[in-house]
Amino acid sequence: MSDVKPNPPMRLRAALDAIPAYKPGKSSASGDQIVYKISSNENPYPPLPGVVEAVADAATRINRYPDAAAVQLSQVLADRLNVTTDELSFATGSSGLLFALHDIACEPGDEVVFAWRSFEMYPIVTALSGADAVKVPLADDGRHDLKAMAAAVTDKTRLVIVCSPNNPTGAVVHDDELREFLAVVPKDVIVVLDEAYLEFVRDPQAPDAMAIYRDFPNVVVLRTFSKAYGLAGLRIGYAVASPEITGALRKAIMPFGVSDLAQHAALASLERMDELNARVDALVAERTRVVDALTQLGVTMPDAQSNFVWLPLGEKTLDFAAFADERGLIVRPFAGDGARCTIAETEANDRLIEVVRDFYTQNGLFG
Ligand SMILES: *Cc1c(COP(=O)(O)O)cnc(C)c1O
Repeated sequence: MSDVKPNPPMRLRAALDAIPAYKPGKSSASGDQIVYKISSNENPYPPLPGVVEAVADAATRINRYPDAAAVQLSQVLADRLNVTTDELSFATGSSGLLFALHDIACEPGDEVVFAWRSFEMYPIVTALSGADAVKVPLADDGRHDLKAMAAAVTDKTRLVIVCSPNNPTGAVVHDDELREFLAVVPKDVIVVLDEAYLEFVRDPQAPDAMAIYRDFPNVVVLRTFSKAYGLAGLRIGYAVASPEITGALRKAIMPFGVSDLAQHAALASLERMDELNARVDALVAERTRVVDALTQLGVTMPDAQSNFVWLPLGEKTLDFAAFADERGLIVRPFAGDGARCTIAETEANDRLIEVVRDFYTQNGLFG
């Protein structure tokens, strides 16, 4: 029977070997209790009022391709950001823009500089492009070491990615240090400022990205509707960049990738900024509550400026994730480094405080 020959390996790119295989999200082993998934920095609120209606309306036209130029949305955002529509590019989330930025800038053998640890997607996108990732260790406080990053830029550098607030440590770079950094990076190297969590930032020293973009046209500002806007499932993000760069991006971005559903959901959300801001404020208040409680317990962690907290648990990270899982909290562990925990529903945040208290106590982590 089983003389079926195994298929020979396909002719696939060697670059894939450097990329971890996709792991489907596991379900929690926590019995009957309500399980909170705090592993993906999603927004716990449902879409804003009017958004589901806008999507339903757009759904009646899905026999048509979407508006490839996102005309209406471009106009609204251009007005808000005080840019022209040719300084905007849309894609399937800011992830889509990260791929396109590599496509327009990188050949095999080129270098992409970013901090590490940072967003898990960066090394994957860089590896797929054939370029080499140059990972610059974060400073001890979880912030970018911009001096070391500047020193890592070479003739081969095609992209530098600055993630602020940094995923997963949550700390921001400061406006003055980012300007000093940009002053020494060659003017023809694209510097990506990934602001996926901008709306949650309360540190007055955080960069004014639009002013920086005005002064440094090699800067590309990345923003997304996935986090604060709660539209992660619709895949829409954008870049603010010089027309030279957006023109190149238009050649590389997947045509018609951003659906009309996503464009209209974004438009409907932008019409409800008061409600959006109230939700973001509530999440920031919850973040403050969690950080205060954990700090009082004796936990030390980087300054949280995003919708998550970072627990630098080192070798205890996977144990903590398993412990949290048993108590119905799915966190995002990075083995040997730390665990990222999203600020979510109040009950989830309460449970996070308890789980951290119990784990740190049982493991003698409170000094
Ligand atoms: C979530 C996230 C993104 C956005 O991803 P989308 O593709 O827009 O959903 C980008 N950068 C960072 C650092 C993120 O954490």
